[in-house]
Amino acid sequence: MQRRDQLFIGGTWSAPSSDAVIEVVSPSTETPVAHVAAAGPADVDVAVAAAREAFDDGPWPRLDPSERIDAVRRLAALYDARRSEIAKLITTEIGAPISFAQRAQVGLPWMMMTAFCSLAEGFPWQETRRGCYGADIRIHREPVGVVAAIVPWNMPQFLIVTKLVPALLAGCCVVLKPAPESPLDALLLAELIEQLELPPGVVSVLPGGADLGTYLVGHPGVDKVSFTGSTAAGQRVAETCAAGLKRVSLELGGKSAAIVLDDADPAPVAAGIRSASLSNSGQICNALTRILVPAKRSSDFVDALAAEVHAIRVGDPIDPATQLGPLVSQRQQQRVLGYIENGQHEGARLVTGGTAMPEGLDRGWYVRPTLFADADNTMLIAREEIFGPVLTVISYRDEDEAVAIANDSDYGLAGSVWTEDTERGVALAARVRTGTFGVNQGYTMDPYAPFGGVKASGYGRELGREGIETYLDTKSISVAGPAAPSGMASPLP
Ligand code: NAD
Repeated sequence: MQRRDQLFIGGTWSAPSSDAVIEVVSPSTETPVAHVAAAGPADVDVAVAAAREAFDDGPWPRLDPSERIDAVRRLAALYDARRSEIAKLITTEIGAPISFAQRAQVGLPWMMMTAFCSLAEGFPWQETRRGCYGADIRIHREPVGVVAAIVPWNMPQFLIVTKLVPALLAGCCVVLKPAPESPLDALLLAELIEQLELPPGVVSVLPGGADLGTYLVGHPGVDKVSFTGSTAAGQRVAETCAAGLKRVSLELGGKSAAIVLDDADPAPVAAGIRSASLSNSGQICNALTRILVPAKRSSDFVDALAAEVHAIRVGDPIDPATQLGPLVSQRQQQRVLGYIENGQHEGARLVTGGTAMPEGLDRGWYVRPTLFADADNTMLIAREEIFGPVLTVISYRDEDEAVAIANDSDYGLAGSVWTEDTERGVALAARVRTGTFGVNQGYTMDPYAPFGGVKASGYGRELGREGIETYLDTKSISVAGPAAPSGMASPLP
């Protein structure tokens, strides 16, 4: 049992303002694994005041970008040395299979750190343009200020790093709130940040729940909110930010479609969709959960998908052979089982899965990987984000109808097309209204490619050059020569 009694406030470990505690419970054993001090509003006040001072008067935003890049490179080296420890922590907290935790939950954030450094090295922090009236226009890209970064539990380190690192590179100061399900990995990252000896106030890590997030978002000392989470919470965050005229970016839920074209080969398509949709027990925002197949070949694709889904090894997440672990919480397990019941009730055909406990397991918040076929796009299992290992197959008559079904969704995060003809796939990508799209693969997070959604999936972009720009404001400075006579005639006609 781990105990974490202190909060990381402004770069140092401090006693919390109250004795509130977060109990972290293992999703596979259902037993408590850690007690972590929960931050309260008074801790937010201290962290934001420290960040404010660091931003308004401290050296961090005023350093040459190369010095901040150097700090992040040192962080990447420290991170690299602790990768297997961080992966085990994430497996303990959220039940992610250890092989996925090592590869994606920890491998990806580490790769992101170094990729962001390369992007920052080539970034146009300043440029000069020739203005219309002959003056030079100096464009300075300046840090946006104090950033509140709020993340969920499903990919905790990846989501933290895609906010924290570009914000730091931009010169911002960050108050990070991890989810109450996954505070341990965030606190370990705080230990690494401590070793960087950044100026006081630059980074705080405050574990807590939705109430703490609400307080942080509304804090007058915060300039920008970077939020990842559910659409319902994102709407509330956007309302608060609108009232305070704060900048905000929102990475929210999804219900992405995989459009399988009639020329595709069922076996590799099924394998690709399985890996894009069921890793992390289906708790991935850009999972392809609606599988659109041509009616003429529906049974070929359903059979191939059923074979893939049925073959998934469900089990103890710490076992390297496990491919699918438990869901994060009992609440999430019950929610997913509720959707499965609803799908059957609405008339979709349950092909495989559908129940909680896989054979040989008597504890843990598992749901067997589940495949529905013969569904239609009006059913709840096709409309709402389930966030669990449930795939829904819907058939279509022609490509126009496939595109119409894909677009008939509140969400617009990701999507994909599967075809032997890559250019046909790229042409189809242009017809689907989402922020990201994959051709013959699920959308793959690439550090150089901007990621984000449209519609109820949010707005703003993370990763890529755009992932740094989101933490910058643009200042235009028009520069006249020193000999400009006073009372000079206006250049305007
Ligand atoms: P959630 O919205 O309940 O919580 C996410 C985070 O926000 C947590 O830290 C929580 O404590 C905090 N929070 C909740 N309500 C808040 C409020 N009103 N104000 C401020 N903070 C608040 O989300 P969840 O159910 O824990 O996470 C899963 C959701 O996250 C899914 O919808 C998933 O699609 C989404 N997600 C999106 C992306 C993306 O990049 N688009 C990535 C991962 C997860």
